[in-house]
Amino acid sequence: MSADKHAATPPRLYPGSQDAEGQRMTLGVVGGGQLGRMFVHAAQRLGYFTAVLEPDAQSPAGQVSHHHIQTGYDDPAGLAQLANLCQAITTEFENVPAQALQTLALTRPVAPGAAVVGIAQNRIEEKAHFTACADVSGVTCAPYAVIETPAQLQAVQHDRADLLPGILKTARLGYDGKGQVRVKTADELAAAWAELGGVACVLEKMLPLTAECSVLVARGWDGQVVSFAPQRNVHVEGILAVTHAYEGSVPPALAERARTAAISIAHHLGYVGVLCVEFFVIEDGSEHGGLVVNEMAPRPHNSGHYTIDACDASQFDLQVHAMAGLPLPQPRQHSPSIMLNLLGDVWFDAAGQLREPDWYAVLSLPGTHLHLYGKLEARAGRKMGHLTITGPDIASVRAVAQRAAELLDLPGLDAI
Ligand code: ATP
Ligand code: MG
Repeated sequence: MSADKHAATPPRLYPGSQDAEGQRMTLGVVGGGQLGRMFVHAAQRLGYFTAVLEPDAQSPAGQVSHHHIQTGYDDPAGLAQLANLCQAITTEFENVPAQALQTLALTRPVAPGAAVVGIAQNRIEEKAHFTACADVSGVTCAPYAVIETPAQLQAVQHDRADLLPGILKTARLGYDGKGQVRVKTADELAAAWAELGGVACVLEKMLPLTAECSVLVARGWDGQVVSFAPQRNVHVEGILAVTHAYEGSVPPALAERARTAAISIAHHLGYVGVLCVEFFVIEDGSEHGGLVVNEMAPRPHNSGHYTIDACDASQFDLQVHAMAGLPLPQPRQHSPSIMLNLLGDVWFDAAGQLREPDWYAVLSLPGTHLHLYGKLEARAGRKMGHLTITGPDIASVRAVAQRAAELLDLPGLDAI
């Protein structure tokens, strides 16, 4: 994997400098979404030039980057141009063609590498990896079975009643709860597999979740790792709605276990860059409940956006540091924080008419930090931005978050 190749001679790309050919130190990102935009902001603040490879002319990251290469993600000419412009390259969306990263890695350091991105893109490989390092990480994933063929479907129907009720998930291309069907019976399972097109899937046992949390770790070329404290996440209709990030948002014993597990998963992968590992907390009779690993995202993550406003280094700062071979200082959270996701729904009133959200009222609340991603068209379920609330204590952060959620008619109000 590319991480290994560069581990021997890690890049050390000083911001604001020039390379041997007199070219400005430039960091590249494949993908032009909001994660790319916030990465570009962090890189530019340090003095790097940036380049974004993204076909969409109006993309959130393309709008703010020095260079925007407007081609497909696997276009050979676009990839060659990106490699020419940049001294190191990262990615920002989960389904970037792993082949594109492989091509880039022939000539440039790419973090995270194609191999680990490939694992995270396929639930079957991802679960196999979690299982392989369960002894060191101390966590397993939910009981599951792989369904890739009609014979496997039948075998699961006959022999794995323990997995029902369950969730059938496509192995590839799922996000925000898409590509998932909840099934109660063996017949529903067969119908769901047909509905998903008979593609490779995993059937996962439905677990009694008491909470969900995630951990962000950053690992350098030299294997150094730093991490943020775990944050608690609340999803509404499969999409992240609220992140709670303050002391006690995840019980300390669980938080410690989750952090240790995420770090060992990153080491086991030889990962370079920021990695997010998502966990379920389940009722299992033990004092703090059980911890189950759900999935990982090979990039900064929506649940880590609060780090921009509540920590002395954000997940995007650490992504820049990791890929450029700069030191990875342990980040410190200076304020308790709640993050509210802003989906396109916020731009529509109860009658379905477009409206301008009352930003004046929201921004008059203390400790509110509004981030809009520059997307031109609001659509239901589309991630348009987020609002981070910071404050001197948890009670005041929660009060402001509740008021902001009321003003914006956000879902999940009772979860704040
Ligand atoms: P993401 O947006 O995080 O990429 P995704 O589409 O990849 O989401 P998952 O994280 O697998 O999907 O599932 C989405 C949500 O569905 C979870 O956050 C959780 O709330 C619920 N869920 C998934 N699997 C299970 C399970 N086995 N038992 C109970 N709830 C589950
Ligand atoms: Mg998820």
